[in-house]
Amino acid sequence: MLKSLFDDVLKKLPNSKVEDYDLDLDYPHDEIIEIDPEIFESTELVPMPEDQDYDPEFSDVDEKEIGIVEGGVRAGGIEILAFYKSYRHVNEPPFRGEWGIFYINRGVQYIDQMLTFAFPGAENCRKIALDFLWSHEIFHAKFDLGILGFEAFSRRHLYLPQKLAFRRAKAQQPEEALANESAWRYAKSVDPDSSFSKQARTIGIQGISDFFYHFMKNQPGAYARFDENQFDLKSETAAGVFSNQRYRSARLDDLAHWVGLHPKGLCGRSDVPTHLILRFQYSKLISPARWIPPVKEIKESKKFLDEIQPSQKSFWEKTKLKLLKSSCLPGLDFKYFQSPNIWSARVNDNFRVHFLPVSLDRGVWEAVSFGSHKDMGHG
Ligand SMILES: [Zn+2]
Repeated sequence: MLKSLFDDVLKKLPNSKVEDYDLDLDYPHDEIIEIDPEIFESTELVPMPEDQDYDPEFSDVDEKEIGIVEGGVRAGGIEILAFYKSYRHVNEPPFRGEWGIFYINRGVQYIDQMLTFAFPGAENCRKIALDFLWSHEIFHAKFDLGILGFEAFSRRHLYLPQKLAFRRAKAQQPEEALANESAWRYAKSVDPDSSFSKQARTIGIQGISDFFYHFMKNQPGAYARFDENQFDLKSETAAGVFSNQRYRSARLDDLAHWVGLHPKGLCGRSDVPTHLILRFQYSKLISPARWIPPVKEIKESKKFLDEIQPSQKSFWEKTKLKLLKSSCLPGLDFKYFQSPNIWSARVNDNFRVHFLPVSLDRGVWEAVSFGSHKDMGHG
């Protein structure tokens, strides 16, 4: 159904040339500009298994791989784990002839693994990881289809110019904020702390919306803007699509209400094809400079012990346990902070800790300083 809808509308639109849209926007360029289609050559594409719990390449994501994928998500956003390919590009790589939502199985395993670390004993972690990603990607499909309606009416391209304009700064598209907002709504719907729904009671995990909140706040550009005013985000998106104005304060309120709307019954589970990518190797995609190193042991310097207030010690103990479980857990915000080799982690809303690596190979770190976000230079 969707295919013929796209075919019918697109054949009536004038031919478009990339050069017509070669604009340079006033946005920082992405770190990962384009996923080289060659990266997919050694992978295998399979239809999404019906049983969401079934993992065709079951094997744990090891510690190093966790640090690589997390580094990738922080540089490239959710699209590192799953992506939407419009039917408009069906004959282009990667995966010529296929379109829809593509999950990278290693990426799904990554979220599954982090949820298992954060919520020991929780069931349904893989299903929740997949549904979370679906909630993000299906927004892209709805957005695509919504724009197709305007294209059918106006007989001009609107979707491709938007994509081409943002091709070097994909992470800055306000569409990504809206897609993450859709994922965040899903996360809240499976958290008994924020929803009374049946879903929250049956498959829900208490505190999971907080997990995903921090997970998305660590993503680049517009990905982290999912909790901004929705109308403003839609208005900014509309300004880009309908009047070629692409900057943070651009607004087109008249058309904001229509952004993300789609004809009823066309963007359900069975309407947009879903695929699973096996044997993807993140180490080929993510620069080693972005990898988040593991933490196996934490020492505490004299300065650190002098600085930490007694009232903060229990928070620090919790932070330490989390770091030792995985340095990539959302909420820790464990990251390289300052040259030559200062790393930082978040203790709670008020305080941070700075670290020096003692041995990166063995995962030994020394906590060297404790203080408020502001005192520690985090603004
Ligand atoms: Zn996206």
